[in-house]
Amino acid sequence: MARHLDTGTREALVERVRFYRDLGLTEFYRRPVDPALLVAKAAGSQPTASQEEQPISPRKTPSAPPQTADAVAATDPAAALQLIREEIGDCTRCALHKGRNKLVFGDGSATARLMFVGEGPGADEDAQGLPFVGKAGQLLNNMIAAMGLKREEVYIANVVKCRPPGNRTPEPDEMNTCSPFLFRQIEAIRPQVLVALGATAATCLLGQRQPLAGLRGRVHAFRGMQLIVTYHPAYLLRDPRQKKEAWADLQIAMRELGLKTANRE
Ligand code: URA
Repeated sequence: MARHLDTGTREALVERVRFYRDLGLTEFYRRPVDPALLVAKAAGSQPTASQEEQPISPRKTPSAPPQTADAVAATDPAAALQLIREEIGDCTRCALHKGRNKLVFGDGSATARLMFVGEGPGADEDAQGLPFVGKAGQLLNNMIAAMGLKREEVYIANVVKCRPPGNRTPEPDEMNTCSPFLFRQIEAIRPQVLVALGATAATCLLGQRQPLAGLRGRVHAFRGMQLIVTYHPAYLLRDPRQKKEAWADLQIAMRELGLKTANRE
């Protein structure tokens, strides 16, 4: 197998196998890989494993249709998202705009059945204008892949859309100013399952501050959708022992979505 792969692809595969092992997915990574598939993947139109790990390049913001987001949300979620983005504009509603390079609106499918909500952009996200494209983003990509999904099939957004200085937790007034746009994104997409990544997202969505331990491991009702709370990928990078717990949370999401969990448990 190794002879067909360039160094970057091989390193990415090794990293992915290491991640699966951290999750406890021993059966999964021991299964033999068809070399023909790997060669086809490296040569063909599908992204290679190393490309999948790369930061995602910025996309253009599409132009405006002449309606309000709420009116079009039910029939055209992508257009509704576009209208919300335009309403945010070159935002100066809170102090976070002062240190911003790029506003990070969100990324992914407007018709996603699964949506992840993080805290706020970090340095990489601020530079690219896309959520979860740094180290924590690579881990989130691996988590999504372990669920059997592609990143572009889900939607990813944050509680605040501008980077807090030094990656500090957003202040309550910053969250209160910015989160109505997140709620409108959620209403436009109406995913079946929402995953709150970390305490800030959980507090914002549930409207109550509680230790993460009491919120994880079960399904919460959220505006007619299902909400699951798990650890933030940045926390998992600091304490990889918790990856198994996070994986257990993601399996709840998979069960709710009707995704196969059998050979990954
Ligand atoms: N952490 C977050 O909460 N969001 C991002 O987009 C990146 C890192």
